[in-house]
Amino acid sequence: MAGERRVLGLLHSILLPEECQILHDLNFRLPGGQQFQVDILAIFKSGAILLETKQIAGRLKFCTSPASLQKLSENGQVIASMECPAAQLHDQIGNMAELLYRNNIRLPISGRVVFANHPIIEQIPSNLPVIKARELRRYIRTKLQEPACLQKGEINTVASVIRSQQVHYLPFPFSERHGFTDRDFYLGPLCSKCRGRLTKQTERAWNCASCNAVHREPYAETLLAYFVLISNRITVKQCMKLLLLRSSTHARNIINRFAVRKVGQGKHTEYELDYEQQFKRLFNDKRTGLLLLND
Ligand SMILES: [Zn+2]
Repeated sequence: MAGERRVLGLLHSILLPEECQILHDLNFRLPGGQQFQVDILAIFKSGAILLETKQIAGRLKFCTSPASLQKLSENGQVIASMECPAAQLHDQIGNMAELLYRNNIRLPISGRVVFANHPIIEQIPSNLPVIKARELRRYIRTKLQEPACLQKGEINTVASVIRSQQVHYLPFPFSERHGFTDRDFYLGPLCSKCRGRLTKQTERAWNCASCNAVHREPYAETLLAYFVLISNRITVKQCMKLLLLRSSTHARNIINRFAVRKVGQGKHTEYELDYEQQFKRLFNDKRTGLLLLND
């Protein structure tokens, strides 16, 4: 993010024609369901420019076969090997071109990997689209000189098509991506006023020991936290345990307030959350938000 901000700052320090559009921090869905991210996309009359920003300190070396970026120690030993950012950039340009094509937009797309800080880079192979931040202005000015393929108004159209294709970046469930397990979290109901742990008094009264508040049904937000942190799936039995419920019907009713679908049969039935749908509901109805879930 710091790298992205620095490169954005540099872009805005160039006197760009008024009609240029600069979009950043974009996330799109690929036809197969996977997603891809784009750091910065600038749209000029001459086409689109995709900038992949990197901020890696130290000594770096590009290797071509297989393509990778290596981090070196003081005495030249390889400390870490990363995916080649130039290969990532090619991928993103390809994905972006397809996305535009699907929306009937033909536009030349080029791009660069921009190192936002000033690492010592040994051997940038001459054909790699990699530059350092101080070379960005020159690169952009060259692009601005190239022949136009878009009219003034068309830049806005392209930008709004791209914006309309964005999806929310939903890195859930959190623990799967970051190597946590359910033992790393306290998952029971929490007080919405002070975040203290709640103790169950009756089916409809949970008491906060820290602030004495009484909550009627702290179920939906507790289950939402489970979905966000632990898994996109839950069984009725797991839900009863999580919410200390006696009735399986009650558990099923709570689960069904979410954007879930049933997976499996009989004892093995699980409910699977569609994060995209769920967050659409929450975002689109800010007025009621979680209240909607809480009935
Ligand atoms: Zn409390």
